[in-house]
Amino acid sequence: MSRFWSPIVATLSPYVAGEQPRIDDLVKLNTNENPYGPSPKALAAMRAAVADSLKLYPDPTALALRQAIARRHGVAPDEVFVGNGSDEVLAHAFAALLKHDRPLLHPDITYSFYPTYCRLFGIAAEEIPLRDDFTVDLADYDRPCGAIILPNPNAPTGIGLPLAAIEALLAGHPDQPVVIDEAYVDFGGESAVPLTRGHDNLLVVHTLSKSRSLAGLRVGYAIGQRPLIEALERVKDSFNSYPLDRVAQAGAAAAIDDAEWFDETRGRVIETRGRLTGALRQRGFEVLPSQANFVFARHPDHEGAALAGALRERAVLVRHFAKPRIADFLRITIGTPEECDRLVAALEEIV
Ligand code: PMP
Repeated sequence: MSRFWSPIVATLSPYVAGEQPRIDDLVKLNTNENPYGPSPKALAAMRAAVADSLKLYPDPTALALRQAIARRHGVAPDEVFVGNGSDEVLAHAFAALLKHDRPLLHPDITYSFYPTYCRLFGIAAEEIPLRDDFTVDLADYDRPCGAIILPNPNAPTGIGLPLAAIEALLAGHPDQPVVIDEAYVDFGGESAVPLTRGHDNLLVVHTLSKSRSLAGLRVGYAIGQRPLIEALERVKDSFNSYPLDRVAQAGAAAAIDDAEWFDETRGRVIETRGRLTGALRQRGFEVLPSQANFVFARHPDHEGAALAGALRERAVLVRHFAKPRIADFLRITIGTPEECDRLVAALEEIV
């Protein structure tokens, strides 16, 4: 604390990163990375960008990348906004679209950055509790508010909402921005992007960190009708007129274009998720139905923190949350089949 700090800074906590160990032998299932790595075509495009063009400034409009994203989703390039990871895209959305006199609604168990951004931007937030089975009850969102943000599938539960439910939510809130964070949608969820055509209040946010295995590159994007995208552009331009560096623009565009690698690797993740869910249930775990690249699971006889600690002693990292209602749970990233086997073998020694 310093007398030079604004009161908002005093309420913010420094980011505590998930462990990023360097020890090769650790099984790292704690930060929802994708074990298969980026598309070989994306790697080649990034190598070429490094070799040929780093003396030049990047394209300030990221046109080729926005065109690739637009082709993939069947929208126009000017309905696409790109940024340094979906975290930055979300931050711009909070700054650009949320009002200060009415609260933002979000689930009480959800991505932890939403309440942080609310504090940072001075926006009131109202947490809407999940049902007992950890699903989102959209009837509870039928109340006066300034905006709504939902991850679909939700994190860290992994549970998704069907498109019809999102459509009903949009119809009930025509005058508020509704942000759907689809960080994990490619692992079995239903994307709301097609709804952007008919709903001028919908912004859908995606990341290349999960299904494209490019967490280290920091690329995310938003899709919505032109006025919402323009609002994000205005905020971005006031920070930095370059949305992404040249390597990121080249690699992300090639990754988006490589549908074959995308389908093959996400298919492998989905298959391994099914196998891991079965193995955990066999060992007595309750596993929530996941549409993401992680599972959220608890064991009736073991505390979450103790389990995470015992796994760590066996060189397996998983994520544990201290929040009371979910303190029994572990969030386990879907790794390769071999990594998941090592997790299950470690659990056999513990539970
Ligand atoms: N939204 C959700 C729900 C997430 O879990 C994450 C990843 N932690 C993000 C957004 C941000 O991802 P990135 O900034 O890597 O695009």
